[in-house]
Amino acid sequence: MLLQITTTHKPATDLGYLLHKHPDKFQTFELSVGKAHIFYPEMSADRATACLLLDIDAVELVRGVEGKNQENFALANYVNDRPYVASSFMSVAIAKTLATAMNGKCKDKPELVNVAMPFEVLLTALPAPRGGESLIRRLFEPLGYTVEVERQTLDKKFADWGFSKYFNLKLQHTLPVQALLSHLYVLIPVLDNEKHYFVGEDEIEKLWQKGEGWLAQHPEKEQITKRYLRDLPSLTRIALARLQDEKPINDTETEQEPTEAQKRKETLHEKRLQAVAQKLAESGVESVADVGCGEGKLIRLLLKNKQFKQILGIDVSYHELLKAKQRLRYDDLPIKQQERVTLAQGSLMYKDSRLKGFEAVAVVEVIEHLELDRLQAFERVLFEYAQPKMVVLTTPNQEYNVMWDALTAGEMRHTDHRFEWTRAEFQAWANQIGAKYGYEAFFFAVGEEAEQVGAPSQGVVLQKNIPEKNIL
Ligand code: SAH
Repeated sequence: MLLQITTTHKPATDLGYLLHKHPDKFQTFELSVGKAHIFYPEMSADRATACLLLDIDAVELVRGVEGKNQENFALANYVNDRPYVASSFMSVAIAKTLATAMNGKCKDKPELVNVAMPFEVLLTALPAPRGGESLIRRLFEPLGYTVEVERQTLDKKFADWGFSKYFNLKLQHTLPVQALLSHLYVLIPVLDNEKHYFVGEDEIEKLWQKGEGWLAQHPEKEQITKRYLRDLPSLTRIALARLQDEKPINDTETEQEPTEAQKRKETLHEKRLQAVAQKLAESGVESVADVGCGEGKLIRLLLKNKQFKQILGIDVSYHELLKAKQRLRYDDLPIKQQERVTLAQGSLMYKDSRLKGFEAVAVVEVIEHLELDRLQAFERVLFEYAQPKMVVLTTPNQEYNVMWDALTAGEMRHTDHRFEWTRAEFQAWANQIGAKYGYEAFFFAVGEEAEQVGAPSQGVVLQKNIPEKNIL
């Protein structure tokens, strides 16, 4: 199968620099299942075309699936469309042969990297089961491509045999080459819907990296994620949760002066974290898991206290974890300090064996980000499965919202909050958890208390009841 990338950017010869492949050479790369060739059938100042041709070895291909299929030798292993269609092999080939361009680098002309250039892409023999032309359009058009689709006939000599399931695709768009390659990398296997290798968690990583900056906003992001991860529900859920959370990193974020309201919020948050750290310190626990740790503010505080020997930060958002790692200056910490901290990606919705054995769990300003009907799943993960000795949990006090000038009646403090509870609602919830799972609840307030409405933030320490037989 063949991928052709043409540009009419002036001078079009820049394509050679961008793809980091010499225009005069025919280059061949070894893949695990065959070869990839790169060459330029045309290269002038007005127009240049690069071709990526895959030459898949059908026998090598079958070797890869040995073991899985040994018992039932199947002709289908040898006689299938894999060597001839644009599939995930094409993605592997793009990543392997055009890695420099995919990573947004250009050694000789770095200024070209962010230049949007007019591109025309031709792809032959693209399968698109369960969706066909309409799916192809739904995937590429929202990204700004002009799409032309031609369905191949089964056999040109026998027109009445009708169409095959393969398409030829022409895409046109003006964009940086890195964006173009990342779209192709993700969307070709999504259309093919048949990945050739086992899909594991590192696939989420690849999807995350290559989808950065466009997948989270794509109207078909669910379909893309599902098909990319071969419909594996557990992986799809994790990946979608991450995408949900992707916020563009705003470079100016740190440069702008915070507003009064932001400053007040920050100070309140500081107080809240101090209160939580203090409760943990007083209890004497030595290991703490901070679930929904965000950018790791609590972890930074806990690290300062030697009492805490093991600190685990878990968050569903990879983006937040990266920030946490940066803000902790993790890579510069002495080994002894590094050994005290672990950052891991995970969702609070699923049982997580990494939480087992931690004496305490902190849940600071997290539950209000969960859908109410999913809160129960979280309760079970934490109180029935992980069963720490102690949980310290905080959430906004909804009654206090009337005190924030910026909030109109009924509005929540953060656009991502799914609910905010009054003190009575919060206490009823925590007491019911206590009764159900054997914990005693001790409530606390954070921030200055106002008449009638209480303090801005509310918290609870849930202490596991020691079974009576253990008390002498
Ligand atoms: N505890 C931190 C961050 C609070 S913001 C602090 O107090 O500074 C809420 C955090 O919960 C976010 O980082 C968000 O990514 C995380 N979160 C939301 N839903 C989650 C889920 N299902 N599993 C794990 N983390 C989740």
